Amino acid sequence: MAGPVEGPKDATPVTDALNRAVLDALPFGDTQDFEDARRGFLGTLPEVEITNDQGRVVCSLRGYVFLDDEHAPPTVNPSLWRQARLNMHHGLFQVTDRIYQVRGFDISNMTLIEGERGLIVIDPLISTEVARAGLDLYTRHRGQRPVTAVIYTHSHTDHYGGVRGVVGDGDVRAGRVEIWAPDRFMEEIVAETVLAGTAMIRRAQFQFGATLPKGPRGQVDAGLGKVTSRGTVTLIPPTRTVEAPIEAHRIDGIEIVFQLTPETEAPAEMHMFYPALRALNLAENATHNLHNIYPIRGAQARDANAWARYLNEAIDRFGRDAEVVFAQHHWPVWDNRRVLDYLGKQRDLYKYLHDQTVRLMNHGYKAAEIAERLTVPKGLASTWHARGYYGTLSHNAKAVYQRYIGWYDANPANLNPLPPVERGKKYVEYMGGAGAVIRRAREDFEKGEYRFVAEAMSHVVFADPSNTDARRLGADALEQLGYVAESATWRNAYLLGAFELRQGQPGAVARAPISPDVIMAMSLDLFFDYLGVRLNGDKAEGLTIVINWVFSDLGRRYVLNLEHCALTYLADRESDRADAMVTLDRAVLDRLILRETPLADAVQRGLVSIDGDPAKVAELFGLLDDFALMFEVVEPKRER
Ligand SMILES: [Zn+2]
Repeated sequence: MAGPVEGPKDATPVTDALNRAVLDALPFGDTQDFEDARRGFLGTLPEVEITNDQGRVVCSLRGYVFLDDEHAPPTVNPSLWRQARLNMHHGLFQVTDRIYQVRGFDISNMTLIEGERGLIVIDPLISTEVARAGLDLYTRHRGQRPVTAVIYTHSHTDHYGGVRGVVGDGDVRAGRVEIWAPDRFMEEIVAETVLAGTAMIRRAQFQFGATLPKGPRGQVDAGLGKVTSRGTVTLIPPTRTVEAPIEAHRIDGIEIVFQLTPETEAPAEMHMFYPALRALNLAENATHNLHNIYPIRGAQARDANAWARYLNEAIDRFGRDAEVVFAQHHWPVWDNRRVLDYLGKQRDLYKYLHDQTVRLMNHGYKAAEIAERLTVPKGLASTWHARGYYGTLSHNAKAVYQRYIGWYDANPANLNPLPPVERGKKYVEYMGGAGAVIRRAREDFEKGEYRFVAEAMSHVVFADPSNTDARRLGADALEQLGYVAESATWRNAYLLGAFELRQGQPGAVARAPISPDVIMAMSLDLFFDYLGVRLNGDKAEGLTIVINWVFSDLGRRYVLNLEHCALTYLADRESDRADAMVTLDRAVLDRLILRETPLADAVQRGLVSIDGDPAKVAELFGLLDDFALMFEVVEPKRER
């Protein structure tokens, strides 16, 4: 790119005015959340900077001292600034009798319950390093206790990945530690992280801003917490599963009533009530923000109606007895009156979002129109925990729409539009060329019309990614949008977009990491699904390959069929017209997927035996793509 790279810029007068208006619109005098976020504080590390065994930092709050200032700078929405300061509270906190939380060591919380013999660990964060540091902190303040059980509230990485930091395989195998999870926990983890994993990891950079510089002109928060840790992700499969809608169990002497809440914040999720402790744990269905019906990292749209329904059931069943409610993010709410007020508002927030979107949809409004039209009811607008620090009403309304009737707005002009590059070129041509578009956009930028300037410049960049002026103006517009965003995820997305327009496409092409524990937990069906999504359809043109698979240690057979550029399979079948039969153990399969052993080596070393035509097996593996993590987002896809 021509000229020096431009750095983050100041807030424009328009942005400054918008952010100052927020100070008058919201009840900043209400500081109850700060009291709650501090309540029960027992201690923390002198500095939260947690490293792995090689000394690499996996989680650090060191870069956030700028948040000590109570007043937001013009480059940060004051409402988000407040949330970012609340999310700075870190360390060990007592929630109530026997219940403790480690907060701020990751984006999520680790909850610890003192049982009769030892400690129940709920949601051991994302990586082993931070989970171990959290448990050590607990031990320093409360003494050594053996972990007697682990409970995963749901199937997202920030709620299980650190498990090997708090418990070892041996203790689980020997039955000394039980691992509890909601129904369908394993299936949902593996399906999400394996099949769509690469796309989600790259897109998550835009949601969480983990690769952005931190600062008043950079990442300040992730809404739901500060930042995601980047250490060793592990998984130990559950030994106990909650399968009925309501189940009560005594775990290490603590009575726990589980309430399954499938298809809410996660496809497999559950609430817990601890009757003797009068404490309610709502996993991730009631947090101090409007959550995501659709996270912008990409996911299947969630069910806002079910979300509200399960919260309503939790209020009905447990509300009258709960003296404290907490979640696996953020801080608790104490006192029954406040608990009920909080839960009622959270329930109504999701119900309103769902019902009003569907109502407007049935009146014929398009998703973008609904997103523009919906505002929070007055009774919720001044409620801090109903604000959109993580999800927004706007993108959540689009997700509700999508869940019912999909991406298409029914206007046939939008049924088959040109793809981004061709569309960009035509727009630029119709608008009188890139120079004319940029001139008009500069005028609009001065007026603060950042949304359209960003869109127009994106057309110019897709028409010609080498147009430096368009990239710079597009970056400037995204940046101001980031500065006024109340949602941390929108801010992160805008600012990373600006960063990549200015710096150019990041060069690293490493494959996205998949945890070995997750690979080992894949079912054989999912393994063949995974092969299917890696099949390069162009290369497979005209080829027919049939392979019988025998997993000798499991006594399972599969037949895999390549035809018409599609890989299909059947379990417990064998084809008599197969080109080859591949025999191996499950552990060898894991090593092949993890690339610890190339196929040719495995054959040579006798770990894989092939009867029939080995060339056909090699040919099939040669048709499989690898996915590079750092694909283009804000500019045209380059063929490699
Ligand atoms: Zn979470």
